[in-house]
Formats: sequence, structure tokens, C-alpha cells
Amino acid sequence: MNLKDLNALKAILSTPQKIVIVPHKNPDGDAIGSTLGLRHFLQNSGHKATIVSPNDYPKFLKWMPGNETILNFEKENYQSKDRIKEATVIFTLDFNHLGRIGQMQPILEESNATFVMVDHHQEPSDYASIMYSDVSMSSTCEMVYNLIEFLDGTSDINTEIANCLYTGIMTDTGSFKFASTTSRTHEVVADLIRKGAKNTQIHHNIYDSNRPSRLHLLSCALKNMVILEEYNTVYITLSQEELDTFNYQKGDTEGFVNYGLTLEGIRFAVIFIENKEEGILKISLRSVGDFSVNEFSRKHFQGGGHDNAAGGKSDDSIEETTAYFKSLLKNYKDQLTA
Ligand code: 5GP
Ligand code: MN
Repeated sequence: MNLKDLNALKAILSTPQKIVIVPHKNPDGDAIGSTLGLRHFLQNSGHKATIVSPNDYPKFLKWMPGNETILNFEKENYQSKDRIKEATVIFTLDFNHLGRIGQMQPILEESNATFVMVDHHQEPSDYASIMYSDVSMSSTCEMVYNLIEFLDGTSDINTEIANCLYTGIMTDTGSFKFASTTSRTHEVVADLIRKGAKNTQIHHNIYDSNRPSRLHLLSCALKNMVILEEYNTVYITLSQEELDTFNYQKGDTEGFVNYGLTLEGIRFAVIFIENKEEGILKISLRSVGDFSVNEFSRKHFQGGGHDNAAGGKSDDSIEETTAYFKSLLKNYKDQLTA
């Protein structure tokens, strides 16, 4: 965050504001952790802050302190619109273009509030007058910690804030193993534990709430895995029928794509998941090393994200999409095998 933006934000927050905080659609641990962590901080600083999520999110995130205050734009539509209409400041967290919030986009675009972006994805668009965008950051939660520090609020980080921010850093770094994890990340995490984050309990809450049907779905996904040795690439498909068979619930496929990368030599892993209701395939892409899945997804699958983790979608069938995917790989052979 540059000094001008920081000073502008400090000045705005020096008087009580009506604030709305927005995560991206299908929010993950970092999106929910960062919005809740920031909300606790702003409420404790005398502001009225409401989180409006574009849609629902997995059960394994719903234990976080303050979860019950989050408005679901799809379910609590009128209340959400009222909060957005009266907002003087709108924070958008863990995304950087308004296309990432689905149906909420036109409502936010109508607002005259001051927009503040806090985000670590590549190629931000310019809807926010105050921008804290840094692609080197492990997570938006680490950035919220920095933001609180910029606002001289570190001593106000309580147990609730610490638990929320720890969660997002843990989930976005793959439990502190991705390349984005720095010594500073560990320093922030150390301070959060000092301030009350229950690290073992958080890990348990997020990762140990499996149902047998989810493990059976994982087994189906792994059976469907296709290894393209020539390109050091694997892909997985899950059809709507398979999801239904294993009683799919939101969040069940989280992390499945990473299994491909545990194979020796594999550099690129993709999962295609059918969503009949939306009429699309949701795509998750992961890589190790220099191959940028952000660029790949931006170019071919209407998505984006980070160098090593991105999302995207396809409007075609699984068969058509995987055929197209395979046809693309020859153009990337050098990058994937050199
Ligand atoms: P996931 O595969 O877990 O849905 O997403 C991986 C990463 O890419 C996350 O950081 C997510 O926020 C980002 N991402 C997912 N879908 C999109 C998209 O359509 N556009 C952009 N810019 N980023 C995305
Ligand atoms: Mn994130």
C-alpha cells in the first residue's frame, strides 16, 4: 500500500463509517478469514461493519468467530442490498475484479462508497480508489495483518482476529508449504499464535471434518485421473452424476487437484468439475515451478489467479473440454518438460 492510499484510509477511518466487506464468490478459507478478521478489527474500532458474501461457503469454515453475522447475498438479498446502499466504505477482499462476485457486481457498481481493495491476485482492475494489491503475499489474511499494523492496531489483535487470520494464512499456503510462504509469513503467524490463535484446533476444524462419502468421492476422482506423461501433466474429471452418487456438498472437492502434483515429475495438475445447475465446468489448475497457470487459465479458460494456483471455467461438456485441454498442451511442451 502506498503512503498516499494509507493516509487516505487512515483519514477516512478516523471517524465512524458504515462499512461493507465483500469476499469473492464461493469464498475459501482466506476470503472468509480475512473478511471476518477485518470486521472484528473495524467493529472494535467503532465502525459498523457487515460482511456480505456473494453466496454460501463450505461448512468447515462456519466455526469461525463472527460467522453468524455474515450475510449471504443470495439468501438475504434485501438486507444485503440495504447494507450496500448505505455503505460509506466498501472493502473488497481476496479478489481484484468485480466479475468475481457474480450477481453482486451491478449492485456494487451503483454504490458511491469509497472502495478499498486488499488482494494478492495478479492483474488488478481499477475499481478501487484505495488499493493494497501485492501478488507476493501468501494470503489476503497476511495483508489484513499488515493493514492493521499500518493502522497502528497490532495491539488490538485479539483472539478472535488471530483465529480468523491464522485460518486464511494456513489454507492459502497449503499449511505453510507453498512458495509464497516467507519468513515474514511465519513471523505474522507466530504473533497470531501469541495473540491466541489455536493452531492445532484450527487445523483440525478445517481438515478433519470428513464424511465417508467425501472420501469415496476422492476415490472416484483419483480413479478418473489421467496421466499425460509426455507433458508432465495430470487431469481429473468429476461429472455431476458422480458428484450426486457421492452426495456432494459444497467444499467436498477442495484440495483434490493437489493429489496430481504429488506424483514424481508432474508439474501441472487440473481438475474439471461439472456443475449442471450453472451449466459450466469449474476448473482448478495447479503447477509447480515456472509454468504459470494464471496465464494459461486467463488465455484458455476465462479465469486466472496466481502463478501456481488458478481457477477457470468452461461452457462445454467434459469430453469437449478435456479434448480441447489436451490439444493445448503441445503448445506448452517446452515449458512443461524443459
Ligand atoms: P480454486 O481453484 O481454488 O478455485 O482457485 C485457485 C486460485 O485462483 C484462488 O486464489 C482463486 O481465488 C483464484 N481464482 C479462481 N477462479 C478464478 C477466476 O475465475 N479468476 C481469477 N482471477 N482468479 C480465480
Ligand atoms: Mn487468497
